[in-house]
Parts: sequence; C-alpha cells; structure tokens
Amino acid sequence: MAERETAAALLDRVAAVVARRGDLVLTRRELHYRAGRWPLVRVASRALDETPRVLLVLAGLHGDEVAGPITVASELDHLAERAHARGLGVVVYPLANPSGFDAGTRYNADHDRGSAGNGDFLRYLREDGSVVDEVEPSPTPRAWRWSSELGVPLPAETRALHELLTRDPLERVVAALDLHQDLLTQGVGPAAYAYSFGDTSVYRDVVAQARALVPLLANRAIGAGFGVQIDERGRAVQPEGDAGAPTSDADGFVVRHDGSLTDLLYRLGAPYSVAVETTGATPLDVACAVNRVWLDGLLELAGSAAPRRA
Ligand SMILES: [Zn+2]
Repeated sequence: MAERETAAALLDRVAAVVARRGDLVLTRRELHYRAGRWPLVRVASRALDETPRVLLVLAGLHGDEVAGPITVASELDHLAERAHARGLGVVVYPLANPSGFDAGTRYNADHDRGSAGNGDFLRYLREDGSVVDEVEPSPTPRAWRWSSELGVPLPAETRALHELLTRDPLERVVAALDLHQDLLTQGVGPAAYAYSFGDTSVYRDVVAQARALVPLLANRAIGAGFGVQIDERGRAVQPEGDAGAPTSDADGFVVRHDGSLTDLLYRLGAPYSVAVETTGATPLDVACAVNRVWLDGLLELAGSAAPRRA
C-alpha cells in the first residue's frame, strides 16, 4: 500500500492553489488536542461578500475517509474556476478533521467523539420537550438549535466548525456537499449512495454519471453511523443489525435527519444539500471519481439556481 499523504502535505497542496489564484482566501484556525495541534483550514472566494449564491463543500470530517479531502485538494483549482465563471461564491473546508486524517481514525487524535459523533451540528426539540440528535422525516419537529447553542460536549474540530459556519453566509448557500466514505457497512462491494432530502429527481444526471462509475447501493437498510461507538483505540465500531436504520431508494438516496451538516443546510433552506458516500470496497480512484461527479453536478445546479434573497 502506498504511503498516505499527511494532513500537512495535503493542506500545502490546497495552499499552493490559493496562492497561485488571486480569487481565493485561506484562513487557518488552530485545533488543540492532547495529541498535538492541527490547523483547520477554510478556503473561500475573495469576493464572497458580493456573490448572491454560494456553494459550500466540506470533506474529511471522518478522518479515515480520505477520498473527500484528496478530491477537494485536487479539484480546488477547477472548482474555483468554474464557480467564479458562473458568479458563484465558494466556501470550502478541505479537511475538517486533520488530526483524525493523520491518525487514520474516524474521530480525532484524542478519540474524542463528543456526545453524538463529530458530525453534530444540530439538535431537535420534540413536541414533548425532549432534545434529540435524530428525528424521523415526520412529524416535523417543533424546532431545532445548533448543538453548540445547547452546550452539548463537542470535539474540538466540531466546535471550531460551528464558530466558522455561523459566520459563513449560510443564508446564501444554494448547494452544500459533504464528502464521506462508508467504511462501516460490512459485506458490500464497491458502491455509492447519498444522503439528501426532498425531490431527488433533480440529481438525475448526477446519478446516471455515478452509476456509470460504480453500482449504487439501492433499496438497502443503511446503518452506517447509526449508534456507532468507539473502542479504546479510537476505532469506530458499528453495532450489529440494521434495526431502525433508514433504507436507500432505487437511486441510492437515503433521507436522514441526523443533525449532520447536510441536515443543517437543509433546515437552513439550501435548495441542494447532499452527503456523498462510497463504500470501503470502492477503489480510492473510483471514490474520488464519484466525488468529482457530485462536485461538478452540484456546481451545475448551483450555477442555475435562483439566489435565495433578492
Ligand atoms: Zn463519514
């Protein structure tokens, strides 16, 4: 197996693209762990304040899912070029969990998953007054709050993302893409699927292109990340069985209101919000190709979307 790129090397590639182009800005926030310090990097369009429509891309929230960060680092130049040509602004978090990336773990190098994993962006308030991290598609919950507003324990990278995202122009985001890999579901071959909401027929062309690369995980109970625990070495352990797990449709779409970034952007009214998954059996180059198809597809949709406010 080829030696894996370090977080520092990957972020150097990102910084080189930003330095070469004049139309992006890069900011770094230092994340402090017992295991050391890592930078959380955010890249955004220099003209972000003037762009009525914004594309938000996040990758590498789960540290061992390397395909997303590799895709984003390789595609950033192309992404900025195409987005800016369409009058779109971009906000990109190329490596959301850099210490986990270096440690090769789902969660961070301290094995801190907070109380509900590091993809903990919102909590729901139910009619009976209880606060939960996941709800069924119906009935509509009474309300929701950012998890950080409720003071729940969050890992350092998630806390930092909350602080940065609340200052991002989320009200102008027309499309959001969160890149993952499903390294938890056992017994499946190379395949892709996606978490999304509402009318997924808008993604018809993207689905056709993804399907040409790899089978789609259709009509299957998908329990990945459902009730995950971590062991003493920080490895994620998926409980046996699919009880209560949502099922994908014929095009491999899964609806899940789990308080994730995708769910947050959906609740905030972004017309397009998708989390892309490829299975662990999918070769890395194919996983990256699927990510590219989704990146290009959402860019296209965002480019023809109406601004969300006049
Ligand atoms: Zn993931």
